[in-house]
Amino acid sequence: MTLLTIVPAAGVALPVEPFVGRHLIAGAWRDSASGETYERTSPAHGALVSRSALGAEADAEAAILAARAAFASGVWSRALGKDRAAVLLKVADLIEANVERMALIETLESGKPITQSRGEVSGAADLWRYAAALARTRHGESHNTLGDDMLGVVVKEPIGVVSVITPWNFPFWILSQKLPFALAAGCTAVVKPSEMTPSTTVILGELLIEAGLPAGVVNIVLGYGPAVGSLMTTHAAVDMVTFTGSTMVGKAIAGAASKTLKKVALELGGKNPQVIFPDADLDSAADAVTFGVYFNTGQCCNSGSRIIVHEDIADALVEKVVDLSKHVAFGDPLDPRTQVGAIITSQHQGKIDDYVRAAVKAGAEIALGGGPLLVPGLDGQFYQPTIVRGVTPEMAIAREEVFGPVLSVLTFRTMDEAVALTNDATYGLSAGVWSENVHTCLEFSRRAEAGTVWTNTWMDGFPELTFGGVKQSGQGREIGSYGLDEFLEVKTLVMRIGRTRAPWVKKL
Ligand code: NDP
Repeated sequence: MTLLTIVPAAGVALPVEPFVGRHLIAGAWRDSASGETYERTSPAHGALVSRSALGAEADAEAAILAARAAFASGVWSRALGKDRAAVLLKVADLIEANVERMALIETLESGKPITQSRGEVSGAADLWRYAAALARTRHGESHNTLGDDMLGVVVKEPIGVVSVITPWNFPFWILSQKLPFALAAGCTAVVKPSEMTPSTTVILGELLIEAGLPAGVVNIVLGYGPAVGSLMTTHAAVDMVTFTGSTMVGKAIAGAASKTLKKVALELGGKNPQVIFPDADLDSAADAVTFGVYFNTGQCCNSGSRIIVHEDIADALVEKVVDLSKHVAFGDPLDPRTQVGAIITSQHQGKIDDYVRAAVKAGAEIALGGGPLLVPGLDGQFYQPTIVRGVTPEMAIAREEVFGPVLSVLTFRTMDEAVALTNDATYGLSAGVWSENVHTCLEFSRRAEAGTVWTNTWMDGFPELTFGGVKQSGQGREIGSYGLDEFLEVKTLVMRIGRTRAPWVKKL
């Protein structure tokens, strides 16, 4: 019988000195006004990775005012589309030139496998290129059918100063889903990365300067949400907040931003089902289910954390997924063979385990895993690939984001049941359907309450295809042309041509 596939410590030498991160405000690198710093330890190795300035309100205030001043100056907001595009393209080239450096620090801070970090950083360059294309091609509309003496023009303008707040699970990728689109629109920004994964955002700051982005257009403040992020959501000089993270914080941000009626774009959690019909290609489905639940250690808004499988094929499918799971390489993220790395913090590892224990207590069965994983030679926290069967819809493990490598298995008999189980969720981020019958796939896709539905695949994404959630998975859209529109305000210009209008005032 195959046991789990564990990759022990790779023996790669870790950086001797931690990466030092400071705030970027008005084009200058600054320590915190308080002089305080904080440290990040690698979740896989237990080693010091970075030391960052610990921001507070004074630093956030300075960054917001710098972004406001840069916006008002017009140096970026009124720049030509082609000039904005040129800078974004240069940034993309610089990202590609820095993949190794950025991937290493991303892996050390987040615990994700090095091959995945390389893919994310180089893939993010393509998001910057796509946004550059939009910077010079997106336009408004004209109305030439309002009468001989009228012309209507709807123009798109940058919304203003944008607060960009990002999480730890895909630090550089999520930043690149937001920032180049905001910049393509002509906005200026204040960015706050998660305090656990700040360093690739700081490196991006270096690349933005090198690419020639004017000072103050992008400002970066490091530190915790309550101290830095909250001012970014309430300050009168901020016009919009774009946030990715937990639904709980997303709701708090929407509430805080409502006091000044800022626009808010939220990309929140998901409880994303893959639904497998009896005529599906079971081998492909099993592989996609395995990928969907373990990718990024399940710490992924798009995690395929529950499957809803037809009861006739449930045993066969689960058997395949259990077998495949044993071949997924868990372990040292610095080893290029590793497919699944560490859990972000020990507290989060405890939360994952609590979900599994509660499900077992409520009558579910463990088909694989179900506890912490020891990786020889490493001090960090890892969790076993875990499959939980006999899950019922009311269990927390079936309804809430576990954010770990844990799959819940539910079953159905009819299309109506499959759709009902899919939609029985507060979330609506993504869903997947597996069937060889196009009618089955289309019916499911149209009835599923989700921002994205994948058919016979899972988690494929492209800069061209917009992304976002319905229900409590968020509001607004990222990437694609809609991703640019989020950062644009529309203004209507109504123009009379000639003096043809009869006067309103009639002199009696
Ligand atoms: P949070 O939602 O708490 O944090 C995301 C970002 O928001 C971080 O930069 C955080 O700062 C910041 N933040 C926190 N509080 C505020 C606030 N009041 N105002 C403004 N910004 C704030 O996610 P966590 O990183 O703590 O993860 C917690 C859980 O959220 C996870 O276990 C997971 O379930 C879910 N999650 C979902 C994600 C998704 O993609 N849907 C992504 C990440 C997490 P800081 O953390 O530095 O204090």
